[in-house]
Amino acid sequence: MAVVAIMPETRKENVMVMTRKCAATLLFMLGAIVASAGGTGSAATVLVEAESFADHGGWSLDTQFIREMGSPYLLAHGLGKPVADAATKVTFPSAGTYRVFVRTKDWVARWNAPGTPGRFQLLVNGIPLAETFGTKGAEWGWQDGGTVTVPAGEATIALHDLAGFDGRCDCILFTTDSSPPPNDSGVLAAWRRTALGLPEKPEAKRPYDLVVVGGGYSGMGAAIAAARMGLKVALIQDRPVLGGNGSSEIRVWAMGLIKRGRYPLIGEIVDEFADKAKKSPGAAEEFGDDKKEAVVRAEPNIDLFLNTHAFAVAREGARITSVSCLDTKTSQEIVFTGTFFCDATGHATIGHLSGAETVMEPKGRMGMSNMWTWAEEVAPQSFPETPWALPLTMTDFPYPRNFHAEWFWESGYDKDPLGDAEGIRDWNLRAVYGAWNAMKNGDGAAKHPNAVLTWVAFVGGPRESRRILGDVVLTQDEIVSKKEFPDGCVPSTWSIDLHYPKQEYAKKFPDNPFISIAVHDRRIDRNFGYPVPYRCFYSKDVENLFMAGRCVSVTHEALGTVRVMKTCGMMGEVVGKAASVAIKHGTTPRGVYEKHWAEMDVLLKLPGKARRKAPDAPIEVPAEVPRTATETTINEASPASLPLRPGSS
Ligand SMILES: Cc1cc2nc3c(=O)[nH]c(=O)nc-3n(C[C@H](O)[C@H](O)[C@H](O)COP(=O)(O)OP(=O)(O)OC[C@H]3O[C@@H](n4cnc5c(N)ncnc54)[C@H](O)[C@@H]3O)c2cc1C
Repeated sequence: MAVVAIMPETRKENVMVMTRKCAATLLFMLGAIVASAGGTGSAATVLVEAESFADHGGWSLDTQFIREMGSPYLLAHGLGKPVADAATKVTFPSAGTYRVFVRTKDWVARWNAPGTPGRFQLLVNGIPLAETFGTKGAEWGWQDGGTVTVPAGEATIALHDLAGFDGRCDCILFTTDSSPPPNDSGVLAAWRRTALGLPEKPEAKRPYDLVVVGGGYSGMGAAIAAARMGLKVALIQDRPVLGGNGSSEIRVWAMGLIKRGRYPLIGEIVDEFADKAKKSPGAAEEFGDDKKEAVVRAEPNIDLFLNTHAFAVAREGARITSVSCLDTKTSQEIVFTGTFFCDATGHATIGHLSGAETVMEPKGRMGMSNMWTWAEEVAPQSFPETPWALPLTMTDFPYPRNFHAEWFWESGYDKDPLGDAEGIRDWNLRAVYGAWNAMKNGDGAAKHPNAVLTWVAFVGGPRESRRILGDVVLTQDEIVSKKEFPDGCVPSTWSIDLHYPKQEYAKKFPDNPFISIAVHDRRIDRNFGYPVPYRCFYSKDVENLFMAGRCVSVTHEALGTVRVMKTCGMMGEVVGKAASVAIKHGTTPRGVYEKHWAEMDVLLKLPGKARRKAPDAPIEVPAEVPRTATETTINEASPASLPLRPGSS
């Protein structure tokens, strides 16, 4: 029997911390038992996860930093207006006095910035505790809230935001013990499992042919293409909506030309769900979250799991056997087993967890953006002073023309995009609020009396982090010199577009400039597209791992062209088809290239709407799909006679 390795999504440092802290957890639990033995009764403990509150009120569910701090949390993202209370009911096992601990942080403390924008109160049965939370500690930790006396049975608790500036609450602990559990940031750490009474055995989902993790353009393309080729697919996405950077939460419009080059029908699936936004960022509706979900839900072969975060991988030998996920609202653990897996997380999370070789530029990467919009009202609008934000004047940032602040509000080039993404996002928020403060209360105030902030993305748009190495690592030189690969298939039409801090705005904050400039190498054939080889889309080490999107096997420079969303979506289409060939022949992703490329070549020429009931069943093309003049009938059993249609975009 092969050894099974379970690898949780925790950085190395955290794993060590966890080992120490597990010991502390045991001591904590032991403390309760000792108290019981001493005749004082065992400690009663009630843990309430903020994300599982029945009513989130105006608080937003933030799942971006689970890998760093161990949990989803609620965020009071009110753009300077306190958000409505989040509330839930809690049952106390016995009447009495409980000590209250809240896991939170003062999110500007790491910069020693003046003020406490993240402050909030905890109400128990409508009465606020004396302590104001979100006011202590630069790191996530337990803030002591003193004691509260409650009757036995049901009580209402509520989070009451005081500032509207991104206060945050992970969870609340009521305990008759005097100390909180350890501050272990592991996902579903032992103290959390114990306090929540989670079942020891996680829920298991049926074996799938393909488990796709990440519901951006790349993951959607992979899931839909695989499902249409007859595979049973799980699509796992940790946000409530699909689309990744192209969702209404981040509002990047989808670029890259489709339906061209060697396989001019690739991109038809992407075309079904891509946005038609007129602005980036524009209005939420322009990004079509509902349309994306409807296209996916229309596929009977796809089981869609929104609000589900993958955090650990089990492996046997060189194969992944399952991915463990956290339901980001209930804290339930769910295990997905599968034959093949596709890493479409953007961060190469599944590749990293499974031990595949990955790379990340140590510094000088492209950064994360939090775009924002504003409007002019008919009457004057006030905005609170933000002493904790970046101290900006109107010359410190480019004017947000056309009522929006675009892609170049970008930072984090030299910061850790995986271990400290929250720090990068929070820095971006300080930049946005600093700019808006300049416009409303500073040297721009005279021109903006009626201006109002209408939207600031709290979900950061990442561009670059870790990538998984495949059998080919595509380089800029290969793209520019038009090196031909026999498996070149996804047309990359965007220029090689790399971002750097814009010097004009970089002097004031050289440690982390927040405005970027794009430098384009335009030696790309935009019409035909550079055909990215299939061998960039599977791991060279892990036998059953595909990847699509910005974590594929390319260099930093090559990422500059392949990363745009329609291109990422087409990678997904190719992966979905390759997975069907791999299932059909019982081979690996590499085997598809080495032994079955002729068959892939045929599948890559199929219209996006072609489907088959199983990977070896006849291919059916719906009647409404236009056929070429030469094609009158399709012999469904013979792939060689399938339709070839010239591309258009
Ligand atoms: C501000 C900005 C401007 C840009 N401009 C453009 C542009 O104009 N046009 C364009 O086409 N591209 C643009 N890009 C680039 C493009 O958005 C990205 O390269 C692209 O989104 C990558 O697609 P993806 O599917 O790989 O990843 P993503 O879009 O990031 O999708 C990955 C999804 O996986 C989810 N996920 C991650 N980890 C897990 C996990 N452990 N479990 C479950 N789910 C998980 C994430 O929440 C996310 O929704 C821009 C990017 C930014 C940030």
